[in-house]
Amino acid sequence: MGDRSKYRYIAPVALPTPGALGKTGAWRVLKPVIDYDRCTKCLFCWLYCPEGSITVEEERPVIDYEYCKGCGVCVNECPVKAIRMVREE
Ligand code: SF4
Ligand code: SF4
Repeated sequence: MGDRSKYRYIAPVALPTPGALGKTGAWRVLKPVIDYDRCTKCLFCWLYCPEGSITVEEERPVIDYEYCKGCGVCVNECPVKAIRMVREE
């Protein structure tokens, strides 16, 4: 077997790209914020984000606010309620 470590995290959907109206993060009214003190690094949020807007850095989820649409799916899927939605400024 070759080294498969670089394939450890493979996005479940296509990587986000700008749409006809620009980067989709501009559509957002509420944004998800991760409480890393609560996060167990289960990566359910990364798996379920329909936009592919969550990446994994140093084994923890990081939200890409340029593309996150604020749908709240990650909030619903987090088993320990480590993500909450806050209103955009
Ligand atoms: S709010 Fe929606 S688009 Fe944004 S990170 Fe969560 S699941 Fe992805
Ligand atoms: S679903 Fe919640 S606990 Fe799991 S990685 Fe995401 S923020 Fe952390």
